[in-house]
Amino acid sequence: MKIVHSALDPLVSRFGIDPAPLAAVADRYPVRISPHYLSLIQEPGDPIWRQCVPDTLELEDDQLPDPLDEERLSPVPGLIHRYPDRVVWLVSKECAVFCRFCMRKRRLGQLLPEPRDSRQAALEYIAAHPEIRDVILSGGDPLMLPDAELDEILASLRVIPHLEIIRVGSRAPVVLPERITPGLCAILKKYHPLYLNTHFNHPLEITPQSAAACSRLADAGIPLGNQSVLLKGVNDDPAVMTTLMQRLLAIRVRPYYLHQMDLVRGTGHFRTSVACGVRIMAALRGHTSGMAIPYYVIDLPGGKGKIPILPESVKREGRTLMITTYTGEVVEYEDV
Ligand SMILES: *Cc1c(COP(=O)(O)O)cnc(C)c1O
Ligand code: SF4
Repeated sequence: MKIVHSALDPLVSRFGIDPAPLAAVADRYPVRISPHYLSLIQEPGDPIWRQCVPDTLELEDDQLPDPLDEERLSPVPGLIHRYPDRVVWLVSKECAVFCRFCMRKRRLGQLLPEPRDSRQAALEYIAAHPEIRDVILSGGDPLMLPDAELDEILASLRVIPHLEIIRVGSRAPVVLPERITPGLCAILKKYHPLYLNTHFNHPLEITPQSAAACSRLADAGIPLGNQSVLLKGVNDDPAVMTTLMQRLLAIRVRPYYLHQMDLVRGTGHFRTSVACGVRIMAALRGHTSGMAIPYYVIDLPGGKGKIPILPESVKREGRTLMITTYTGEVVEYEDV
C-alpha cells in the first residue's frame, strides 16, 4: 500500500518539486511542517527548508539510532536519569515540525506507548528520589499537550517538595508561535521557578510572531534560554551565528547551548567539524556581548554528558600563563 504524505503537498504546489524521492524518505522518517514554519521558506534549499524538508541523504547514514544511550539510562519509560540531580522527562511525542536533524529521530512517528500511560510511574520515581531537584520536560514538544494536561503535569510536579526548578524544552515559540497563548502563559506562571529553553537555529526564524510569543512568555516571568544545533548549510557560519545570538538577546532570549550534532542515524548530512564550531565560538567571544555567547557543547556518546569546547586560549609555562586575547595578542599572566 502506498502511504500518502500530505505534508509534501504544499511543497509540490508552491515549489513544483517531484515528491517521489522525498516520499521514500517520509516512509521512514515522518514529515510535518507547520503552516507558520512553511511560510518562512523563501526558496528550496534555504536554511528553513533544510531544517524541515526531507532529504534522500537521510537514508544513507549508518550511525546508531540512540548514541546517547537514552534508552539504557531510562529507569522508567519516558524518564532519562543521566546526571545526579536532574532528569529529562519525555511527556509528549508530538511536535509542530519534525526537524530533520532531531536527536530523537529514532522516536519520531514511531508507535510508542502513550506518554500518558507511564506518567504515574515517572512521577513516583521523581518523588522517590530526593536528589532530583530539576526536571526538564521534553519530548517531542511538551507544549503540544493540551493546556489542561500540561497544567496537571506541572501541578503533580510542584507538590514534590525536593523539586526546586522545572524546565520546559520547546520549539513552539519558533515553529508554532500561536501556541503561546495568554492562557498557556497563565498556566506556566503558576509553577515558578519555571524556565523555558527554546530552539532557534537561524535569524530567519526570528519573526514578529516568534518575537511576540517570546514576549508573552518573558512577561509571565519565565526566563528564556535558547539551545541551537550547529547545522551544515543552516548556521555553520560565524556571521549567521553572531546575528542569531544578537537578535535572540533583542527578543529577551538568552543563548544557552550551541550543540554539536549528535551522531544520530539519519542526520549525518547536517554534521560539521568541531573545528567549525570552535571557529564560530572564537568569532563570538570578545567581539560581541558576553551574554550573546552560548556554551558550545558535545554531548558525548554513551550518555557521558555534555562537555563544553572552547577555543584554545591558555598555555602554561611554569607559573606563567600565556593567554591569547580575542584579538590574537598573547599576554603573560602570573598565577600564584
Ligand atoms: C542535556 C541534558 C540534561 C540537562 O543538562 P544541563 O547541562 O543541566 O542543561 C539533563 N539530562 C539529560 C539526559 C540531558 O541530555
Ligand atoms: S521540535 Fe525538538 S523534538 Fe521535535 S523534531 Fe524538532 S528537534 Fe526533535
